[in-house]
Amino acid sequence: MWILHLQHHSLKTPHKGAAFFFLQRNAYLSLQKHEGMKGGSLRVWLAVGLLALGFHPGEAAGQQGTWCLVIHGGAGVMEREKMPPERQQAYLRDLDRALTTGDSVLRHGGTALEAVEATVMVLENSPLFNAGRGAVFSWEGKNELDASVMEGASRKAGAVAGVTTIRHPIRAARAVMEHSPHVLLSGRGAEIFAREQGLERVNNRYFHTRERKAQLRSLKKKTRERESRDNHGTVGCLALDRYGNLCAGTSTGGMTGKRYGRIGDTPLIGAGTWADNATCAVSCTGHGEFFIRGNIAREVAALMEYKGKTLQDASAGALEKLTTMGGTGGFIALDARGNLAMPFNTSGMFRGYIRSTGEKETAIFAP
Ligand code: ASP
Repeated sequence: MWILHLQHHSLKTPHKGAAFFFLQRNAYLSLQKHEGMKGGSLRVWLAVGLLALGFHPGEAAGQQGTWCLVIHGGAGVMEREKMPPERQQAYLRDLDRALTTGDSVLRHGGTALEAVEATVMVLENSPLFNAGRGAVFSWEGKNELDASVMEGASRKAGAVAGVTTIRHPIRAARAVMEHSPHVLLSGRGAEIFAREQGLERVNNRYFHTRERKAQLRSLKKKTRERESRDNHGTVGCLALDRYGNLCAGTSTGGMTGKRYGRIGDTPLIGAGTWADNATCAVSCTGHGEFFIRGNIAREVAALMEYKGKTLQDASAGALEKLTTMGGTGGFIALDARGNLAMPFNTSGMFRGYIRSTGEKETAIFAP
């Protein structure tokens, strides 16, 4: 016999053999076979009945066609007067390109995970951001990259840390999540895994850009310590797809002049990245040590989960915690209803969002 279940979308993966019908953003009906009862054609008849009532299988939250994509390109000291207009335009153009890419994945029915990966890859290709091509230099003059990704439906996650030859660390993070039993791989092991996965590898020199080299030189001479420390540039992306699922991804070169194999918050699930359909998706940027100690990404979700706060209030609470601890930076947050927040405590954060309605915005400086 088949019984009709009403389930919350956080249990989205339907039981094998169950017919399921999404009702609205947070729930779906599923037909499941129960022990000692006969199923047979009843399932078919009920399915037909429900379809006749207007329930369509495989459609979820965004069945009306709603989705949303949010990005950041790092937070830090950014003053309007000090950033030449052409440079501002270049940042906005690349942010826009990333939004358009992710939006088109979602528009064509792609998943939040696919959108996050594609969007972050665009930002990793840009030399302007501290991720992929534009990664900052370590003290030893190398580029060591970190990235992570997390899916809100399953709470599966993958990450890589301290990798030096993987062109798109976000792809490696996804591969760890999907093709390994682990969550976080580091250094040489992560490189070997990436090779086995057939991911694109590059010489470490691919990540050498003149500007980042100059930042390291200044840091060593302590002439521009403040700027280079504050000008982070990590990238992050959150997506809510038409199936009601959230996903978060973050990618970075870390912090200029980092030493001794230092790893920041970016590849640490809960610190720099979080996604959970029941609460929200979060991607952080800023002084990683503070994000790790404050478990900032998870803090937003925890405030929603345990204190029943809205996304806005939870985001304000987590930012306040970061600020009280003495940390600088910000984050983007998105819930399964499409509410979003982009708070930061620095003078700027490269950021933007796009909705299925076409509403789109990019910004750099504090309002
Ligand atoms: N959070 C990154 C790290 O500490 C840096 C950044 O976001 O700019 O590695």
